[in-house]
Amino acid sequence: MVDLKRARILVSNDDGIHSPGLAALEKVARSLSSDVWVVAPESEQSASGHSLTLTVPLRIRKIAARRFAVNGTPTDCVLLAIRHLLNEQRPDLVLSGINAGGNLGEDITYSGTVAAAMEGTLLGIRAIALSQARTNGKATRWRTAAHHTAGVIKRLSATDWPRNVLINVNFPDVPAKEVAGIAVTCQGRHKIGEMLTKGVDPRGNPYVWIGAERDEDPSFPGSDLEAVHPGKISITPLCLDLTHDRTMTELKKVFQ
Ligand code: MN
Repeated sequence: MVDLKRARILVSNDDGIHSPGLAALEKVARSLSSDVWVVAPESEQSASGHSLTLTVPLRIRKIAARRFAVNGTPTDCVLLAIRHLLNEQRPDLVLSGINAGGNLGEDITYSGTVAAAMEGTLLGIRAIALSQARTNGKATRWRTAAHHTAGVIKRLSATDWPRNVLINVNFPDVPAKEVAGIAVTCQGRHKIGEMLTKGVDPRGNPYVWIGAERDEDPSFPGSDLEAVHPGKISITPLCLDLTHDRTMTELKKVFQ
């Protein structure tokens, strides 16, 4: 459990230090605690996954008191925040987001938003990733996430979960008042990359652009996708242990 009023909260994201979703999450965090720190990427890092920068040095730019930008990935930001900037007093809670767009199904494996929460979890700190689902070409409904984020964080903070688990929250693409409750869900499936746009650039060179279209697999009852589509907030606990136990048992028989 986290006593939010006394908690040191670290806020990060993958959309970068200037993103409206970060501002929204920072505002919510400051309404919950007076000890809020923001360490976020200088530029957008969406789909950077759990990437760690090892080949170039990282620069930390102080923007204001307890507010920093890093020229790296979300993982770099959380690592530097916890191991360097907040080394004297580690945060009690890591919040990542609010991402512009859902992190549902396999998005989780590409997501920098979820990776920031993963990094917090790996460093022993409870972490929550938050994303606002949206429709391509339409405005992101920040008010929906902003309206419901504090309540979700409060309820999650009043409970405990294992140390290698992080929480992935997705807000539906409906107005705040039309949110139809909260569902605790499993990870669904809607693989990206079905649609590739091929063309020729202005200098005559061919390119391939990965599109946003996804083929949704409906064979995951109780999934994050199934909750968010009709307007529910989805809460999925994710585990950092990627071992598949049943296959491990089978393979032990094969390789004994
Ligand atoms: Mn993003």
